[in-house]
Amino acid sequence: MSDALIGLPIPISFRKLYINGAYTESHSQQTLSIYNPKDDTLVATEIPIADAYDVDLAVTNAETAFNGPWASFTASQRAECFYRLADLLDKRLPMILRLDSLTTGNPVSLIPTREKGYIRNCLLYYAGWTDKMRGDYYPADDGFVKLVRHEPLGVCAAINPFNSPVASLFIKAAPCLATGNVLIIKPSEKSPLGSLAVGPLFEEAGFPPGVVQVLTGDGSTGALLARHMRVRKISFTGSIATGKKIQVAAAESNLKRVTLELGGKSPAVVFDDADLKNAVDWTLNGILARSGQVCVASSRIYVQKSIANEFIKQYTERMKAAATGFGDPQIPETKYGPLADSPSFERVQGMIMRGKKEADLVVGGNRIGDVGCFIEPTVFLNPKDDAEIYRNEVFGPVAVIKSFDTEEEVVSLANDTEYGLMAGVFTKDINRALRVSQRIDSGVVGINCISVMNIQAPFGGKKASGYGREFGEYALRVFTEPKTILIK
Ligand code: NAD
Repeated sequence: MSDALIGLPIPISFRKLYINGAYTESHSQQTLSIYNPKDDTLVATEIPIADAYDVDLAVTNAETAFNGPWASFTASQRAECFYRLADLLDKRLPMILRLDSLTTGNPVSLIPTREKGYIRNCLLYYAGWTDKMRGDYYPADDGFVKLVRHEPLGVCAAINPFNSPVASLFIKAAPCLATGNVLIIKPSEKSPLGSLAVGPLFEEAGFPPGVVQVLTGDGSTGALLARHMRVRKISFTGSIATGKKIQVAAAESNLKRVTLELGGKSPAVVFDDADLKNAVDWTLNGILARSGQVCVASSRIYVQKSIANEFIKQYTERMKAAATGFGDPQIPETKYGPLADSPSFERVQGMIMRGKKEADLVVGGNRIGDVGCFIEPTVFLNPKDDAEIYRNEVFGPVAVIKSFDTEEEVVSLANDTEYGLMAGVFTKDINRALRVSQRIDSGVVGINCISVMNIQAPFGGKKASGYGREFGEYALRVFTEPKTILIK
C-alpha cells in the first residue's frame, strides 16, 4: 500500500474482489497497479484482474441473491435500504471519493459541492420509485383480461468509465436495485478504489449479500461479463469503441440487453442576442470541469459572427486565466486537476500537436509544469472542416470555436457529427431557443446552459453517443421488461 493510503480509515482490501458480501481472494493471478496522475507516484499494487472463474463465481452468487430473500422484499423494505445507504454515505462518501481522487485526479473540492449531493439525490429519487412501478390492465373486450407486469431482468452488470467512478456506480445501481435486479460492478482499471470501498455499505444498509458485488479488472474482465451467458444486462458507460465491442459481445452470446452511455462532442450555439457573460460562464465551466474529462464537455462552440470577436476575447482571456486554477487535486482549494493518467495525457497532447496544423491555436496547448499529467486550458479557432481536433472527442480541457452567420447554417454545423449527447443554445429569443433545441440532434439540449444533467429527466445519447437512457423514470424502463398475462 502506498503512502497516499496509509492513515486513511479504509476498511477494505484492495487486493481482493467484493463477492457475496465479503472481500474474497481472486482466483486470477493477474493484477494491476494504479498511480496518482499529479506526480506518477504509486497508489496501490496487486489489484486483481478478475478472470473467468471469478466472474462466474460472482454471477452464480448474483443469481442466488436474485432468487433469495431480495425477491420477496416489499417495496418499502427496498426503499428503507436506499434511505439507510444514503445516510451511511453522508459520513463515508468524502473518504471514498478521496480514494478515487488519488487515481483520477478529480479535485477533492468537487466532493462537497457536487458529488455528495448528486449521489444522495440519486438514491433518494429512486427510493421514491420502489412502490410506484405500475403495470397495466386492459379489459376483456375480446374475452381476455390483459395484465402487464414490469419485471426485473435478473443479473445485471455495470461497466464503468474512469472519470466519475462512484457517481457512475450509483447512477446505475439505484434504478437497477429499485426494480428488484442484482448488480455486478466492474469499475475502470484506472479508478477501482472508491467502488471497492462502497461494496460493504450495501449490506450494512440492509441489502442481502450478493445483491451488489464489485469485480476489479481491465477490459478483459468487462469482456467476460459482456459475453457471459447468465448476465442479462450490461449497463455500460465509456468510449464508443468499447461500446461497440460490448454490443457485439452481447449479440454473440445471449442477446443480453445493453445500455450504452458513450462519448460526446457537444456543441454550444451562441446567438448574437445571448447574455454574453452567461454564455461564457457555461461554456467555460463546461470544458474545464474535471479538466474536460466529462462526456458532456462543451467542446465545440459556435458563435454568431456579429458577436464573435467579443465572445472570443472574453472566453480566451478567461481560459488563459484558468490555468492558475490547476494544481494538486488533493488540496481542497484546487479547482482543476491533471488528466487521469499518462496515456490520456499523451493522447490529448498528440491531438493538440496535430490540431496546430488544422486550426489556429490561440490559448494554451502546453503541459503545465514538468511533473504529472497537467494540460493548459486550450482554445483553437477556425478549424478545417475535417480537423481531428474539431471532429473527435478530446476528453481534455480543449475547446474549438467557429463562427456562423445564420440559424440554418449553425443547425447544420452542430448536427454534422456522429456524436449526439448534449448541446446548448444561448439566446434570449424563446421561439428561436425552442426551434433550435428541437432541431439539434442530441439526447439533451440546454437553453442558456450546457454540460448539465438532472436526475428527474432522461439522460443519454443519440446517434453514436449511445442508446437507452439513464436518470428519471426512463432508467427504470431499461432495467425491466414487460410481461403480458392473458386471463381467459
Ligand atoms: P473506456 O471505454 O476505455 O473504458 C470504460 C470501461 O470499459 C472500463 O471499465 C474498461 O475496463 C471497460 N472495457 C474496456 N474494454 C472492454 C471490452 N472489450 N469489453 C468490456 N469492457 C471493456 O472508457 P474510459 O476511457 O474509461 O471513459 C471515457 C469515455 O467514457 C469517454 O468517451 C466519455 O465520453 C465516456 N463517458 C460517457 C458518459 C455518458 O454518460 N455518456 C459518462 C462518462 C464518460
